Amino acid sequence: MTEKRYTGRFAPSPTGDPHLGTLIAAVASYLQARVNHGDWLLRIEDVDTTRRVAGAEDAMLRTLDRFGFEWDGDVIRQSARTAIYQQALDQLDAEDLVFPCTCSRKLLAQTAVEQSGIYPGTCRTRQLPFAHEHAIRLRVPERTLGFDDRIIGEYRQSLATECGDFVIKRRDGLFAYQLAVVVDDALQGVTEVVRGADLLESTPRQIYLQQCLNHPSPAYCHIPLILDPTGRKLSKSEGAAGLNPDRPAPSLLAALNHLGQQAPEELGHAGTTDIWQWAIENWDIGKIPLAHATLYNG
Ligand code: GLU
Ligand code: ZN
Repeated sequence: MTEKRYTGRFAPSPTGDPHLGTLIAAVASYLQARVNHGDWLLRIEDVDTTRRVAGAEDAMLRTLDRFGFEWDGDVIRQSARTAIYQQALDQLDAEDLVFPCTCSRKLLAQTAVEQSGIYPGTCRTRQLPFAHEHAIRLRVPERTLGFDDRIIGEYRQSLATECGDFVIKRRDGLFAYQLAVVVDDALQGVTEVVRGADLLESTPRQIYLQQCLNHPSPAYCHIPLILDPTGRKLSKSEGAAGLNPDRPAPSLLAALNHLGQQAPEELGHAGTTDIWQWAIENWDIGKIPLAHATLYNG
């Protein structure tokens, strides 16, 4: 049997300036791809065009370039892939797995199961037309979905009671992240997803969508979010500081150290080529500290 070539990706949303949290996810996915002699793809996740911040994509590409990342192939943008997401939606519809939903936010707030925010299934059997102003939800089954995360270990979720039928196309006509990410990971042949643990609880939804669309599931590595000493998400608290594209070494070292890689201090004065060489030679995913794994939900 021939093994599929390792394909990893980094998929930032252009919603603000790149910060240390962004860099950590980029570094981890990049090193996994390089160590596995695979490709590292870059995808701009701007499917939610309402959250796009002018200049953020340019800043991201420029920062990655200055930090010495080398991506494979062309950068793709979700905002240009609406027709592809629509095809996936049509496929789900043909199998009767989706339904239109007219519930307003207000109604959902009143009816969501025990105020948990879980969709109560109101429109499941209403046979509403697929009109433009309706959201489209995917019907979830009554079963627990689990996967073995390469960093965090076994993770299980009951889609029906912990998540509910979820939106894959919004009432404003935009496709939801959950659908876009699954379609793109599959069409780009991604074999392993390395990303922040804030997306751990989205993963069962994505695996279910992969099953509905007959796509293979990639492996998953969720990096425990890095917290500052006060327990806040580092990306938020240090966000204002951003990354300095003119001084990549200190931030790259900080990212490596947050990932448990114990980079030698003298690399703080080195160029990016030397830092990457050291990092590729010494990368050990097993060293990523799990200490904050259970705090990701902050
Ligand atoms: N675009 C998402 C973010 O920037 C990442 C999605 C993913 O890696 O699956 O948070
Ligand atoms: Zn509804």
